[in-house]
Formats: sequence, structure tokens, C-alpha cells
Amino acid sequence: MTDFAITKALFALPEGMFYLDGNSLGPLPRAAQDRVASAVADEWGQMLITGWNKAGWMAQPTALGDRIGRLIGASPGHVVLGDTLSVKVYQALAAAIDLVPERRVILTDSGNFPSDIYMAEGLITSLGRGHELRVVAPEEIAAAITSEIAVVMLTQVDYRTGRMYDMDALTAKAHEVGAVTVWDLAHSAGALPVDVAGCNADFAVGCTYKYLNGGPGAPAFIYVAPHHIDTCQPALSGWLGHEAPFAFDLDYRPGTGIERMRVGTPPVLQMAALEAALDIWDQVDMQALRTASIALSEQFIAGVEAACPMLALASPRDAGQRGSQVSFRFDQGYAAMQACITRGLVGDFRAPDIMRFGFTPLFIDADDVNRAINIVADVMQNRLWDDPTYQTRAAVT
Ligand SMILES: *Cc1c(COP(=O)(O)O)cnc(C)c1O
Repeated sequence: MTDFAITKALFALPEGMFYLDGNSLGPLPRAAQDRVASAVADEWGQMLITGWNKAGWMAQPTALGDRIGRLIGASPGHVVLGDTLSVKVYQALAAAIDLVPERRVILTDSGNFPSDIYMAEGLITSLGRGHELRVVAPEEIAAAITSEIAVVMLTQVDYRTGRMYDMDALTAKAHEVGAVTVWDLAHSAGALPVDVAGCNADFAVGCTYKYLNGGPGAPAFIYVAPHHIDTCQPALSGWLGHEAPFAFDLDYRPGTGIERMRVGTPPVLQMAALEAALDIWDQVDMQALRTASIALSEQFIAGVEAACPMLALASPRDAGQRGSQVSFRFDQGYAAMQACITRGLVGDFRAPDIMRFGFTPLFIDADDVNRAINIVADVMQNRLWDDPTYQTRAAVT
């Protein structure tokens, strides 16, 4: 079992802040400060170029990938870090399309994060082979998986509502009709137990700065299933995905296994921060995390609904169909969230009217949730949101 009082003490959280936004940007692991300082001073400063070998920088993308693999049900050698999630979506989708050359339809849902949709559109245009991106409502996805579909590209947990797909059932359905799957785990990795190998997912991608607490700008990850790893064609054929990068050949030959999904030089300082975060994750049992996350979310829903009839639950009521976030709809949601933030409760706002709160047992406990409920109740019951200073939207919401 995981002791969440111990993990909480491993994060540096500002005094008096209730941070229900670890689903957008995880907080700072205390150890990351020293780890990054040492990567700067001792590795970059002292080793300079020899750090690639001596400090193991070049091996970090796969070494840290294996540690993330444990959290998503991948065996070692199937996950690698690099680039941003948008780039990894492109890379996974390009490889998936190649596996089903005779079909032309990519299926996704209208709840998907826009960047995933934009990247798919950009890829389709570049390919110029007449692919169609078919976008249907989330509740229509299962029925839309037909023998016309080449790739089913979905984000498991909806970033706005927290609605969660049954990855196992939809992957099985996709395979029945001969389609391949690309799963985006942005709101799943570190939020709930995932079993990419158990559900036979073909490709999965995710970011490490949300629930995984790798810090702003931390690299993304990609998983490729064992049955595709030696045959899939990397569309982003950078030198570090080459079989022998330091042979400097003029012809591209994909590297062995997951190495082929590397592109270019890895972000060494970001990986130092992520490594400190993974030292915490290494101690976490994902089933215990899920149990704790559901308890906190249920406590929050019950408390907010009892105090604030004007807020409408936007997340599924059934915990089994929800990720690790709870969202409420309110037409003055932006101003209401600003009023909460001023009072120490940090969540975020997603257009048009969603107030979103993330539940992260690693550093949020039942006392924090009680205090958060009190702040929401105060803001809503006393109309504290109705103040002109909360109306001006910042660039990042
Ligand atoms: C957060 C998120 C992204 C962000 O992509 P970046 O390239 O890391 O900025 C993409 N897709 C989904 C589903 C997300 O939740």
C-alpha cells in the first residue's frame, strides 16, 4: 500500500494553497530542485559533452520511459520519451495509418483535445492521400467503429468532463473490424491504472507534466505494442531514431525497437526534473491511487452539490466512468474560478463554462478537499465571482 501522507511531504506546495490543478501542471517534487541543480552544475557544468555518456543522458529517454511504462502497463523497452505530446500524436498516427494502407478514415470524437485533432488534420494534408478525419460525439464512438475505419484515435479521459472510455472494449472492437488504435493518455497516466499491454492497444501517447509532475515543458512519451515495434515506420525519421546515429549514414534505417520513435536531442534538464518525480511514482501502487482518487472526488462532489445548487455536475456521476477530475458547469465559470484562485483554491477553467478540479492523492488529502469545498461554497453562495476584476481573461486559462 502507498502511504499518501509520505508522498505529500515530498512535494513543495505553497502554504495555504489547495492545488486541485495537478491534472494541468503537477507541482514541484522537493527533490527536483537539487536534482536539476546538480544536472546543471555537476553534469552540464563539469562534464560538458561527456555527460551524454558519463551521466547517461543519451539513455534517459528509454530508462525513464520504462519507469512510466510500469504506470501504464507496458513492459520494459516499449516506451520512450521525447518531444511534446502533439508531436507524439502525429508520430503515432502516422505509423498507425501506415499499418492499414487500404483504408482512409481516421475516427475520433468531438470531445478530443483540439491539438490532437489539429495534428491529425495537418498529417492528412501532408500525406495528400485522401484520408478523412471523422469526428463524432463521444457517445457515438462505439457504433462508428466499422470496417471503413483505419485508425481509432481517442483520448481516454475527456479533458473537459473527465468522462472515461473503456479502453479495453473499444480496442477490442477496433481490432474486430481490422482497425488500429492510438490512445492519448494525457489525463490517464498517473491518474488511474492503465494496462496498454493487457488491452492490446497498438499505440499510446501521453505527457509527463500533468499528473506525472515532470514540470512545465517535460517531454511526452510514446508506447508501441510489441507486435508493431519492429515493423512500424517512423514518419519523423530523425537521427536519434536511426539504427546507428553516430555512423552518420546518408540513408535512414529505423533503430531497434522503441528507439526508432526517438527524433532528436533529448531535453536533459527537463528529464532531470522528471526523474525526481518518477522517484516518487516508483513507490506508488496504482490501485491504491485509484481508490484514494475516487474517495476524494466523491467527497468533493457531495460537498459542492450540497452547498451549491447553482453548479451542475459536468462529469459522469458514476466513478467508474470518470477519470481523476471533477467538472462543474456554471455560466460565470471563468469569474468563479478566478474568485476561488484568489482564495487559495486553484483549479482551472475550460471554455465555454467548465470549472475543472483535479484530484491527485499524491499531494491532496481529505482535509484539503474539505477546505476546497468551503471556498467554492463561499464563492458561490456569496456571489463573490460577481466582481469586475474577475472578468478579464488572462492568456492562459
Ligand atoms: C494536455 C494535452 C495535450 C497537450 O499537448 P502538448 O503538445 O504537450 O502541448 C495534447 N493532447 C491532450 C489530450 C492533452 O490533454
